[in-house]
Amino acid sequence: MAVPQNKVTRSRRNMRRSHDSLVAANPAECPSCGELKRPHHVCGACGHYDDREVVAKAAETDLDDDAA
Ligand SMILES: [Zn+2]
Repeated sequence: MAVPQNKVTRSRRNMRRSHDSLVAANPAECPSCGELKRPHHVCGACGHYDDREVVAKAAETDLDDDAA
């Protein structure tokens, strides 16, 4: 089994971990439905991006059309 040749000091360990912190999300309000969404992403609530509907939501899709 590989074994570290040298002890990693507290200083060096903490310097490595200085980049490990999580950053808070920066949600923006959807201009279409007002729901909070990730910036530059399609709205998960209404499927709009840049005032266009790009993803049809399941609630709006009528699945019974195929059966009739
Ligand atoms: Zn929306």
